[in-house]
Amino acid sequence: MDPIIRMENVSFSYKINEKTISPVLKDISFSIFPGEYVAIIGHNGSGKSTLSKHFNGILHPDSGDVWVHGLNTKDERNKRNIRKAVGMVFQHPDNQIVATIVEEDVAFGLENLGVPRGEMVKRIDEALHVVKMAEFRNRPPHHLSGGQKQRVAIAGVLAMQPDCIVFDESTSMLDSFGRKEVLQVMRKMNSMGITIITVTHRMTEAAEADRIIVVEDGRMVMDGPPREIFKHKQELAELQLDVPAVSQMAENVHDNFSDFSKDIIHEDELI
Ligand code: ADP
Repeated sequence: MDPIIRMENVSFSYKINEKTISPVLKDISFSIFPGEYVAIIGHNGSGKSTLSKHFNGILHPDSGDVWVHGLNTKDERNKRNIRKAVGMVFQHPDNQIVATIVEEDVAFGLENLGVPRGEMVKRIDEALHVVKMAEFRNRPPHHLSGGQKQRVAIAGVLAMQPDCIVFDESTSMLDSFGRKEVLQVMRKMNSMGITIITVTHRMTEAAEADRIIVVEDGRMVMDGPPREIFKHKQELAELQLDVPAVSQMAENVHDNFSDFSKDIIHEDELI
């Protein structure tokens, strides 16, 4: 199977006043395949957010390459197709909501793409149903809770019909209820066939993915299913990442639209 995203020997440094500061990403290579649910984890400042901005060409590597469906993100001509294939949901829902009515907000990206009216109504309807916000369609977004706003922002991305959605710390501003709502939506979208990449510093959230990539000081240091990653309890502790207890993971257990049980591991399985 061809990957959706392929990173090959990616290194990156920010530049301040034309001056390069120390490297943030160091020789990172991995591929993300269609249908995967991947969590990228690491402590604050490890480079996760910088890495995620490479997935749809917001940032470009200084050396190495990022390919989305075989299209190089460095080539400007690929920008439109890459942005269409890989959607991004960011940390602050308020920064992503642009309209004064929920359904207009979800329509925003579609209008820019010139999607015909009938098709637009259908897509808005479907997207709001997936995130369970259909009944709020005529409400002003600023009256909603943080989790509800984030779900509206997700509907806006979903309506664009991307193959992959990247969540960059999208639950970190939310209370535990809001987090749970967004995690349920991620799992639901993944079960619909959308590839999910979630960037988080919370191990309990990473535990819900099918694959975890651990980043430390700009390098990829682990890559595998949660069950395998959590065996490295000592190494993770050294990276200030604690393996979650089963009881903590249970906090996130889904409601009726998904099956969360498959990644719940038992403490006696951990080394
Ligand atoms: P994480 O998402 O893991 O917290 P980031 O990718 O946000 O990590 O940051 C990695 C490093 O890059 C940090 O040292 C941070 O200070 C630096 N950094 C992040 N964004 C910028 C920027 N726009 N300009 C300069 N340095 C930045």
